[in-house]
Amino acid sequence: MKTVKVNVVTPDGPVYDAEVEMVSVKAQSGELGILPGHIPMVAPLKTGAVRLKKGSSTELVAVSGGFIEVRPDNVTILAQAAEAAEDIDLERAQASRERAESRLNDKAEQIDAHRAELALRRAINRIDVRNNRM
Ligand code: ATP
Repeated sequence: MKTVKVNVVTPDGPVYDAEVEMVSVKAQSGELGILPGHIPMVAPLKTGAVRLKKGSSTELVAVSGGFIEVRPDNVTILAQAAEAAEDIDLERAQASRERAESRLNDKAEQIDAHRAELALRRAINRIDVRNNRM
């Protein structure tokens, strides 16, 4: 089975590094499935799950935006924040979701709704990846 090397990198350091058979990401333009030998490209990502297929298992990494750079034998995902499913603190993500939801619901408070919306998306993505609901 052919493989492609995938690195997920953040400003805090590498988060994931493995040879996989397929990587799927949520690009701004839609879901992208990348197999070994893919033509080179760069695409911006949405906050979402990266799925990494290795044999019969699929690993998940939660990625908060960023870019994917594809080359025929390696894929680099650069993101402001990214966590492998097993490294996600579910309680922290749930608290973050509640905070963002109450900010969005609180009409009286002067809030940055866009910022709260982005925080909510990051939190929901982490909860879904942690719970393997992708
Ligand atoms: P919070 O409100 O919990 O800080 P956030 O969405 O504002 O969440 P980020 O700014 O995206 O957090 O991330 C800051 C750092 O904390 C990053 O290194 C990120 O990987 C890490 N991080 C954020 N939430 C979690 C989580 N639930 N579990 C593990 N690491 C997390």
